[in-house]
Amino acid sequence: MRRAICPGSFDPVTNGHIDIVARASFLFDEVIVAVGINKSKNRLFTAEERMEMLREACREFSNVRIDGFSGLLTAYCEENDVQAIVKGLRAVSDFDYELQMAQMNSSLADIETVFVPTSPEYSFLASSLVKEVATFGGDVSGLVPGFVRERLVTRLDERRRAGDA
Ligand code: ADP
Repeated sequence: MRRAICPGSFDPVTNGHIDIVARASFLFDEVIVAVGINKSKNRLFTAEERMEMLREACREFSNVRIDGFSGLLTAYCEENDVQAIVKGLRAVSDFDYELQMAQMNSSLADIETVFVPTSPEYSFLASSLVKEVATFGGDVSGLVPGFVRERLVTRLDERRRAGDA
């Protein structure tokens, strides 16, 4: 059984993430999409909310499951019998950091990193940019699933109201 992991923050999941998960699910027997739970970081959605959205977004892939992890990714991989980390590469700018990370991870554990080139239509897509565009009222449909767009608009509205209060 070949098991891979797609790690990230997914705050929130975008169509670029889903594209990488779809391709990993084709290449591997089982794929775990793992949400990093890092309490110190300021996220728009809680880890549970991010996992909930991923579950909905990945419903069509029968060999994909969603989980959360904290601490070292390599430790999670060892505990869960994961052989490969799948990462999407958007541009050269992603490469330096991702290469360093891949080499560090393989020095920590017996784990391979597989880079999947982003589909051209998603190469500019990042959760942070989607949040920024949505904050200023831009249309993010086509960048995230419809139900994510709705939750994003609602959450940003809540934040705005809380800020005004
Ligand atoms: P972070 O690693 O900063 O938490 P994200 O949660 O946004 O990043 O993304 C998780 C992983 O998903 C990234 O490391 C990258 O491999 C992949 N990814 C993100 N956006 C895209 C995209 N537009 N196209 C392909 N892969 C992507």
